[in-house]
Amino acid sequence: MTTHRKVIIIGSGPAGLTAALYAARADLEPLVFEGLQPGGQLTITTDVENYPGFPDGVMGPEMMELFRKQATRFGAQCEMEFVDKVALGVEPPHRIWVGDDEYTCDALILATGATAKLLGLENEKVLMGRGVSACATCDGFFFRDKEVAVVGGGDTAMEEATFLTKFAKKVTVIHRRGELRASKVMQQRALDNPKIDFIWNAEVADINGTTETGIQGLVLRDTQNGETREMPIEGLFVAIGHKPNSELFEGQLDMDNVGYVITKPDSTATAVPGVFACGDLQDAVYRQAVTAAGTGCMAAIETERYLAEHE
Ligand code: NAP
Repeated sequence: MTTHRKVIIIGSGPAGLTAALYAARADLEPLVFEGLQPGGQLTITTDVENYPGFPDGVMGPEMMELFRKQATRFGAQCEMEFVDKVALGVEPPHRIWVGDDEYTCDALILATGATAKLLGLENEKVLMGRGVSACATCDGFFFRDKEVAVVGGGDTAMEEATFLTKFAKKVTVIHRRGELRASKVMQQRALDNPKIDFIWNAEVADINGTTETGIQGLVLRDTQNGETREMPIEGLFVAIGHKPNSELFEGQLDMDNVGYVITKPDSTATAVPGVFACGDLQDAVYRQAVTAAGTGCMAAIETERYLAEHE
């Protein structure tokens, strides 16, 4: 059986849920497929201090619950389902599958966000959950009084390192350059923290350990002279950025070489009529909750206009 909806939204981070709020208030009765991590990346973060309207900060999961509540209040239907496949037509209806259930829609808003990048080392996947993690908020608790390392030099790495000092005995940030990429305030917070050390101009060449022993240490390579050395460690947090979750749309939408969906200038419209992309899926530059919410709003308004023109 096929279910038809006017508007389907894939993704439930700030972009997807803002699109849902606006679409619901425009009486478009959107159906939101929330994916495997409802609320998106903010549900695995701690304090959000830079979302306007929360002068004292807000916890990421709480903020996303508020987004969801606001969207459903106006009739958005949120389903905790993972979309397995999409088939974008030359024009609507576009088709979507959740398992064997098929859905069609007149307009589709894509807000599938981004996912943490990994280093690509063989032992990284083997030891994931055995000392290696990509989420301090999820796993920091397990490293009480241990010595851990964080790889990366951006805001995520600084945030994770600072958060980990609540549990860990010592946190070492390993950065491949001599200068951090993170914003000044986040840099300073980490640099001022007595529990955080920095190793500059170094990359993780290998992770020592087995599934039985868990992580035992790292092999670090100096990025300037190529020399390697061993570093004993009890935990490794990979915080080197994110990649857009665009695999579902490969071959169907224009993307850049990293996989960000390309939209028309000053618009969320893709090259496929009736398909709009917003949030981290199409934003390689800002990648903020507030900009994601902004483009989610744009996507819903553009959807409304598109549907009005094509009715
Ligand atoms: P990012 O800004 O892209 O930084 C990634 C970091 O990882 C860079 O320092 C990069 O090194 C390093 N890196 C990348 N690939 C690597 C590899 N293979 N091996 C070793 N190091 C590698 O990513 P992000 O920190 O996730 O931040 C993304 C966006 O989210 C930013 O706009 C940031 O401001 C925002 N954000 C904000 C907050 C907040 O305000 N609370 C928190 C988290 C993130 P190079 O510097 O050498 O390129």
